[in-house]
Amino acid sequence: MTELTIALTKGRILKETLPLLAQAGITPLEDIDASRKLVFETSRDGVRLLILRGSDVPTYVQHGAADLGVSGKDTLMEHGGDGLYEPLDLGIARCRLMTAAITGSPPSTGRIRVATKYVNVARRYYAEQGRQADMIKLYGAMELAPVMGLADEIVDIVDTGNTLKANGLESRETIADISSRVIVNRIAMKTKHQLIQPLLTQLGNAVSNPGAGG
Ligand code: AMP
Repeated sequence: MTELTIALTKGRILKETLPLLAQAGITPLEDIDASRKLVFETSRDGVRLLILRGSDVPTYVQHGAADLGVSGKDTLMEHGGDGLYEPLDLGIARCRLMTAAITGSPPSTGRIRVATKYVNVARRYYAEQGRQADMIKLYGAMELAPVMGLADEIVDIVDTGNTLKANGLESRETIADISSRVIVNRIAMKTKHQLIQPLLTQLGNAVSNPGAGG
């Protein structure tokens, strides 16, 4: 019987999460990368993993379809965090959420167009800055928007800055420092406290002592 369902974000975050889960004694029974499955049993009886698109992780956990999950802070900020606790910063997949514009272009004034997949975060940010901004929702390749005249600025994740640079853009302002967080369904935190609390402690130990055995 499944006792605990953990929702993970595929890609970079998954890669960095698996070693921490392994230190907490949870390893998938199959190679996730070699499979097209979305649900994996683990070495720990009753614990299974869901492999999801990042923006779906908070939604699964919010509605209790997963008890806990690992999600980028960017995705959590955009989701809003309803129905979720965020008890642990895993310190992985670090990057920054930033504004960017065409390299060397003057600071934009007046009402501007901002292309981003983070429309909620961006709307809040520009409002706080007292700047008028219309949001243009995109699902990928934000870097293209200023170059093609679709937007004046973008809001996107920046790590090395190479992607911006390769597309003639430069970062401007940091909206938030990002890393991946453990999120827990608010009801599960109470009803499954005896399962979840020890796992949070083990993951916390793995974070402060990476590379140490189980
Ligand atoms: P970079 O060229 O190193 O600045 O990386 C930028 C691109 O990589 C972004 O557009 C993101 O799509 C992706 N990226 C970098 N770091 C992360 C992260 N920690 N989480 C999710 N996506 C990331």
